[in-house]
Amino acid sequence: MQEFIKMEDLCHAYTSYEGNQVVALDHINLSVAKGEFVAVIGANGSGKSTLAKHLNALLLPTSGTCHIKGHDTAVIENLWAVRQTVGMVFQNPDNQIVAAVVEEDVAFGPENLGIEPAAIQKRVSEALAAVDMEAYRHHAPHLLSGGQKQRIAIAGVLAMQSECLVLDEPTAMLDPQGRLEVLQAVKRLNQEQGITVIYITHFMEEALAADRVIVMEGGKIIMQGTPVTIFSQVAYLKSLGLDVPVSAEVGYYLRQNGLKLPDSIITDEELVVALCP
Ligand code: ADP
Ligand code: MG
Repeated sequence: MQEFIKMEDLCHAYTSYEGNQVVALDHINLSVAKGEFVAVIGANGSGKSTLAKHLNALLLPTSGTCHIKGHDTAVIENLWAVRQTVGMVFQNPDNQIVAAVVEEDVAFGPENLGIEPAAIQKRVSEALAAVDMEAYRHHAPHLLSGGQKQRIAIAGVLAMQSECLVLDEPTAMLDPQGRLEVLQAVKRLNQEQGITVIYITHFMEEALAADRVIVMEGGKIIMQGTPVTIFSQVAYLKSLGLDVPVSAEVGYYLRQNGLKLPDSIITDEELVVALCP
C-alpha cells in the first residue's frame, strides 16, 4: 500500500541571520495513512511548524525525502499536485483572509484554478456547509469571530478539494468557544469525509481527538502512539515541559497520593467513572 504521507530521513536546516545552520528537523521518518487524524505536540522550537511546511512543499528537505501520495515534494513538476492535495491552515485567522465577502474568500482558490463559475458555487456551498458556516456566506470575514474565521480558512481548503488538512496551532488565538468550533469542524471532516488531518496543538485536550499523537523534541519524533499510550506517561511528558490533559494530570496526582486509579485515565469522563464507580 502506498502511504499517503511518507517522510524518510528528512532533515531540515535553516540558515540563521548570522549564517549558522539551525537544524530544525533531524532525520524524521513518518508515515501517515489516508484518513488518519494525527496530532503533533512538542515544546516551542521542537520543529512542529517546520514539519508542517514540508507537507505542502512550502519548505523542501535539506536531505531525505517527503512524498505526498507518492509525489516527491522536491520535484518541481509535482508542486501543483502536492499543493492541491494538502491544504494548510495557520495560527492567525486574520492573515488568511483574502476577500471582503466570505463566499469570495472561499472561492479564491478554485477561481485561481480556472474552474467554471457554476462548479465553484457548488464547491463553495458544500465547503461552507461542511464547516457549518453557510449562514455567513454574504458576511464580511473581518467581522466574524476568530473561530468562524478559522472555519472559513478550512472551507477554503475544502473548496480546493484537498484530501489532507494541515493545521498549525489553528486555535492558539481563539477563545474556548472558538477552539471547540474549530476542533469539532475538523473532527467531522475527518470522520464524515475521510479527510486526512495533521493537527499541531499545544492544547492537550485537543490532541485527545486524534487517532495518533506524535511528540516532537529537538527536531526529532521522540514518541508516538494512541492518545492513551502517550498521555498515560504523565511524568515523562512533564519532564519535557509539556502539559497533559487535566484529567490525566489529576489522576496522576491522585495515584501519587495513594489512590488506586488506572494510569489509562485521560478524559474527564474516564476520571469521573473511576472516582464514582
Ligand atoms: P515549533 O513550531 O515547534 O515551535 P519551528 O519549526 O518553528 O518549531 O522551529 C524549529 C527550529 O527552527 C527552532 O529552533 C527555530 O528557532 C528554528 N527556525 C524556525 N524558522 C526559522 C527560520 N526561518 N530561520 C532560522 N531558524 C528558524
Ligand atoms: Mg510552530
